[in-house]
Amino acid sequence: VTRRLSSVDGHTFANRHRLVADAIRQDNFHALVVTNSSNIRYLTGFAGSAGLLVVTPERLYLLVDFRYSAAVDGLVRAGLAPASLDPVRLEGSAGYDRRFSELVAEQGWRTLGFEAAHVSVARWRTWQQALASTQPASTQPESTLPVALVATTRVIERLRRRKDAAEIAVLREAAQRLSTVARDVLGDTVRPGRTEVEVAAEIDARLVGAGFEKPAFDTIVASGPNSALPHAHPTRRTLVSGDLVVLDFGGVHEGYCVDLTRTVAIGRVNPDCRRLYQAVHEAHAAAIDLARRPGALTGEVDAAARDVLRQHALDQHFGHGTGHGLGLDVHEEPRLSRRSAETPGDDPIEPGMVFTIEPGVYVEGLGGVRIEDDVLATADGCEVLTDVPREWRQL
Ligand code: ZN
Ligand code: ZN
Repeated sequence: VTRRLSSVDGHTFANRHRLVADAIRQDNFHALVVTNSSNIRYLTGFAGSAGLLVVTPERLYLLVDFRYSAAVDGLVRAGLAPASLDPVRLEGSAGYDRRFSELVAEQGWRTLGFEAAHVSVARWRTWQQALASTQPASTQPESTLPVALVATTRVIERLRRRKDAAEIAVLREAAQRLSTVARDVLGDTVRPGRTEVEVAAEIDARLVGAGFEKPAFDTIVASGPNSALPHAHPTRRTLVSGDLVVLDFGGVHEGYCVDLTRTVAIGRVNPDCRRLYQAVHEAHAAAIDLARRPGALTGEVDAAARDVLRQHALDQHFGHGTGHGLGLDVHEEPRLSRRSAETPGDDPIEPGMVFTIEPGVYVEGLGGVRIEDDVLATADGCEVLTDVPREWRQL
């Protein structure tokens, strides 16, 4: 079960490990247990669906079962693994959790951080029991103390917000490929008489044709009344004159996700549809302008889009955030959401962040519009990575 792996060099891996090591030392942990697969991939290059990574300031202990041993060996041989990687193979019938607790005992670790958002209560209980019953190998007096599992949040996710040079290169290439697919789709795929599922299937085929590993999420083709549903699934509905059609799709390239939306009109539409479009187009431009401002906060970018829609009396029809980070996950940090107690929106936009700008309005009985592009924040502004015309388009 081998997977294509991104060609991150040893220096990049060492840098990522160093940043996690700093966090581990700061919290006085012996190790951090990483169970989120994107976080594991970020630190090791390993892209399997199962695996468990234990990070110490010095080493990366990657636990893998027989399905993935060959893949990890291949990584190491090809020089695509971090120098600090220590593969730990599961032997016999030992599962991940048992091998993990044995490793803890072997190493004499007493305080371990774990990713609270990525460990089920059941697994946490299993760990507690296994660690309590494991005899430490060390004979030092302190080894009789119980092992403490300490919940952490966003340790690696925070680091992943700012992309390094290797990631930016991959995302830039991916955004160009996605733009090519989008221009082709708008040019010849969206036509009256075709159904939403037919158009979606062709988009997916074009994504693969453009070299993407797979779509980044279920492609959205939402026409007519369906366009007023922000997360519509393609149906057998046929595109007809008078429709607005929202097309939202993305691809995965070397593990990294890009994401784009355009909305087009089929034939003559209600003039109010065009007004919706104009408002969203303005909101999109306002959000990008704000994101260009050095030191801009995530909540301010969202507010810039929302304020424009308020001026058009459409803000009550904008029910989602203005954007989200892109990377190994299609939705990651930073979140450019409406300010609330839960999402204060006071994180500054920092150079290296890659995120979407995607305001939308959804009016029942009329239709919906969303315009989405992918943006890279730079030291002196931002660069729009996707390149597809945003002007009103009537097919
Ligand atoms: Zn999207
Ligand atoms: Zn998106």
